Amino acid sequence: MSKDPDNPETIERTFIAFKPDAVQRGIVGEILHRLERAGLKISALKMIHASDELLEEHYSEHKGKDFFQNLVDFMGGGPVIAGVLEGVKAVSVVRKLVGETEPYEAAPGTIRGDYSHVSVEHANRKGKAVKNVIHASGNLEEARKEIDLWFDEDEIFTYERTDDDHIR
Ligand code: UDP
Ligand code: MG
Repeated sequence: MSKDPDNPETIERTFIAFKPDAVQRGIVGEILHRLERAGLKISALKMIHASDELLEEHYSEHKGKDFFQNLVDFMGGGPVIAGVLEGVKAVSVVRKLVGETEPYEAAPGTIRGDYSHVSVEHANRKGKAVKNVIHASGNLEEARKEIDLWFDEDEIFTYERTDDDHIR
């Protein structure tokens, strides 16, 4: 199964991960529903308790920052549900649905805005990672790196959604 979508001009694949807070709060289904409802196709989905090595590579751009170790500890503190979503300009569409990094700033209607609210300042004062429910790749390059890192080729699927004609 190819890692590249059928039409690389507009159809993209992006990586998401429901963070341990989402899994532990039991809100994964609700949030996945929002993404599916927007017409994004689930190309891959699995639960995984990520190792420090995987998380350090996943968040390598943040290595050396104050919050790095808290972030790795948080993300490795329980299982996550990792996935690949496919759709037209899926990377930016999913970021838009996810909302801003800081829950306090994330707009209502976005996943982070609707399911979390804390400020970065509060998390820092508490010495905690910012628990913002879901990860989504920031750009196409990051998406390719993250899909490669988290998934084997044979874990990613190509199929037709019956509503494909209407949604893309
Ligand atoms: N994070 C944190 N403290 C900060 C900034 C970020 O704990 O001061 C966490 C937060 O969970 C965030 C993740 O680190 O989602 C990655 O940060 P990034 O800036 O890449 O945000 P994202 O791409 O997730 O929106
Ligand atoms: Mg990021």
